[in-house]
Amino acid sequence: MRAMVLDRPGTRLREAELPAPEPGRGQVGVAVDACGVCRTDLHVVDGELPEPKLPLVPGHQVVGRVASTGGERFAGGERVGVPWLGWTCGECRYCLSGRENLCDRARFTGYQLDGGYAELVAADERYCFPVPEGYDDLQAAPLLCAGLIGYRALRLAGDPERLGLYGFGASAHIVTQVARHQGRRVFAFTRAGDNESQGFARGLGAEWAGDALGPPPEELDAAIIFAPVGDLVPAALTAVAKGGTVVCAGIHMSDIPSFPYELLWGERVLRSVANLTRRDGEEFMELAPRVPVRTEIETFPLAEANEALARLRAGRVRGAAVLQVRD
Ligand SMILES: [Zn+2]
Ligand SMILES: [Zn+2]
Repeated sequence: MRAMVLDRPGTRLREAELPAPEPGRGQVGVAVDACGVCRTDLHVVDGELPEPKLPLVPGHQVVGRVASTGGERFAGGERVGVPWLGWTCGECRYCLSGRENLCDRARFTGYQLDGGYAELVAADERYCFPVPEGYDDLQAAPLLCAGLIGYRALRLAGDPERLGLYGFGASAHIVTQVARHQGRRVFAFTRAGDNESQGFARGLGAEWAGDALGPPPEELDAAIIFAPVGDLVPAALTAVAKGGTVVCAGIHMSDIPSFPYELLWGERVLRSVANLTRRDGEEFMELAPRVPVRTEIETFPLAEANEALARLRAGRVRGAAVLQVRD
């Protein structure tokens, strides 16, 4: 199979022919149609996450069809999504308390397990999702992480009337639609002078869009930080009202500068969101077509995965980048 391979963090992916993975017991072999490009892929490729499997096929927003199966859950030809959470132990205190996203021994697709920047991927069928109808393969791919993690972050933000989103990329463009569907008011915070992202946010229903480090037009009840920028934490805490929650949704962030306790005082909550549970996936895949979430995507052929990553690194993707794996 054709694949894009990371040999060493900090280097470009290499186009390669690899042996097709054989699905083991309880796994499905998935013929990949599309794979979304996530900021987490960048953190893996750039060496910001420790100890990836090497060599590694990145990619954890996989949409494809079951080509072979060592399990019983899916039939051949069925469309499935393969997400970031690839395996959990089922026995640790986190797994046993409905928090498998925090499993001590969890393994993640496109990080410790080979992912979807390839024509075939083998995945544990228990962690795959049926993909909702009404989305083509390319449009569905960003639902698998940008959508899922965004949904979990939104849920953990509480029940805000006024929601701030910091960093307007793949996740925020989906969360905006879900939050509007829930009747929330959305405020989008972008890099200073990023008029294109601000216009994009307004077009999706944000009532205000402006610079992340500037003042918000009014107090927020909650904020979600998608950009991997620690400076945004004190900025968001400054923007939320008493009792408000700031959620850090990314897996990696630059250091958070020190800030006066006053910013946290007033029962403000600062928290992160880590990974996803299968329940998040089931809930979100059921919700997305009811909103309905429309994903805005930029597509790249599989062989141009390095270009897709470079554009994402430069903040030049509108919506979500997706690799078209099957021609
Ligand atoms: Zn566990
Ligand atoms: Zn992701």
